[in-house]
Amino acid sequence: MPQNTALLWLRNDLRVHDHAALTGALENANYLLPVYCFDPRHFADTELGIPKTGGFRAKFLIECLEDLQRTLKAKGADLIVLQGYPEIKVPEFAEQVGATTIYFSKEVTQEEIKVEETLEERAWAQGIRTESYWQATLYQLDALPFPINQLPEVFTVFRKECEKMGEIKKMLPEPEHVPFPKEQTFPCTLPALEALIGPPPKKDKKAAMDFVGGENRALERLSHYFWETKSLASYKTTRNGLLGADFSSKFSPWLALGALSPRKIYWEIKKFETEETKNSSTYWLFFELVWRDFFRFAAKKHGNRFFQVEGISNQSRVWSSDKSQFEQWTQGNTGIPMIDANMRELNATGYMSNRGRQLVASFLTHDLGIDWRWGASYFESRLIDYDVCSNWGNWMYVAGVGHDPRQNRYFNILNQAKKYDKDGDFVRHWLPKLKKLEGFDAHQPFAFTDKEKAVRMGGNSYPKPMVDVSKW
Ligand SMILES: Cc1cc2nc3c(=O)[nH]c(=O)nc-3n(C[C@H](O)[C@H](O)[C@H](O)COP(=O)(O)OP(=O)(O)OC[C@H]3O[C@@H](n4cnc5c(N)ncnc54)[C@H](O)[C@@H]3O)c2cc1C
Repeated sequence: MPQNTALLWLRNDLRVHDHAALTGALENANYLLPVYCFDPRHFADTELGIPKTGGFRAKFLIECLEDLQRTLKAKGADLIVLQGYPEIKVPEFAEQVGATTIYFSKEVTQEEIKVEETLEERAWAQGIRTESYWQATLYQLDALPFPINQLPEVFTVFRKECEKMGEIKKMLPEPEHVPFPKEQTFPCTLPALEALIGPPPKKDKKAAMDFVGGENRALERLSHYFWETKSLASYKTTRNGLLGADFSSKFSPWLALGALSPRKIYWEIKKFETEETKNSSTYWLFFELVWRDFFRFAAKKHGNRFFQVEGISNQSRVWSSDKSQFEQWTQGNTGIPMIDANMRELNATGYMSNRGRQLVASFLTHDLGIDWRWGASYFESRLIDYDVCSNWGNWMYVAGVGHDPRQNRYFNILNQAKKYDKDGDFVRHWLPKLKKLEGFDAHQPFAFTDKEKAVRMGGNSYPKPMVDVSKW
């Protein structure tokens, strides 16, 4: 093996543009071995008895890796593929190939930190150095105007403090060439999707869009949303939509796996503002990315409290653990069309709009009173864009145990339906039996009695048991 070989351990940073660990490694090493290690724990079942990584995300992950492998090959290298616990396999492989340093991106939550700490200890014990980088956010951790333990608990305070710092840092350049040792062969075969999760998920033609993983697809989506359709120019007015591909950016799955850098989006917004238009919509996409930053920094600050039932605001509440109601919620069989349509979209496609997520989370936690962590865990399995910080942070927020400064935030589902799906197009899209009900009537299930309807229209809680919707 040539002198000064480094290993780049890839995690949720599956790209070559704006990549701090890749840039750092190339500055210091003569040869670089990019490695991805499939961690069996990511494909095991959760406490709910469902896979931690559901079919849509697993498929998206494989596509991201295939795309990255093609890109690395075009740059003279390859993607090495390992299987097993990364904290064991990666240092073992580094020693085997004589690598002097392991470069990687830092994560912020407990399971991931434990893996990286153990990996570092094992690497150091073998005399191998490690270099880790913060890189998943717009703002850098070390550039924040406060130490992380003083991160404001209210988003608006955080955002204003950040905005005072001025522009986001420039992106790091994409390397043209990645020097890779040629005289040796390495394991570079990606596992088949079926081997990871069993039968692949079926495509549903009702899906908002066909999400395909990979940095190149992410950049195509960026170009489509900004330049081809100019949808960015009206983002603020469309972002609460429920149906279709372009009411929101749909960047989230690529952001979650790091196939798209948030700084890339930021600098493309700036270009759009110079070349096309600058308005409240162009600002609002940046604003939403700051929310994403906020949850990541909050997870760093609060550690394990992010996953505890009391949440970061330490609320003691009695939560229901009614498994049968939870099951009705997961399957989209609650009898409330707006909830069921959203849950069926999630199950059929891996995606749900932001409005939908807020409503189903509010319904589960406030109307059914079920433990918010069950909902978060179900989302973890099903979402194609699952991001540990955004998911658990948002769930806590909606459940009233997180960062929301407003006490008792509650979504009245029928009022929300009236506002965001007044013609019933969304619910009829996912619940075909409602097709015969015109307009807003589609939100009032035909199976309800008048008395039930009255309760559902006005009340703060929904009657039990729920209607039989097994044929919806
Ligand atoms: C209960 C609940 C769970 C959620 N779980 C996740 C998750 O696991 N992964 C995830 O990426 N987002 C999550 N979100 C946030 C949000 O719903 C999604 O980011 C958004 O719907 C993705 O679609 P989009 O890319 O078209 O969003 P856009 O509206 O186009 O927003 C652009 C980007 O801004 C960020 N963003 C937007 N809204 C939020 C938000 N509320 N919190 C954090 N970041 C945001 C995302 O990165 C998003 O891709 C959750 C929201 C709720 C209410």
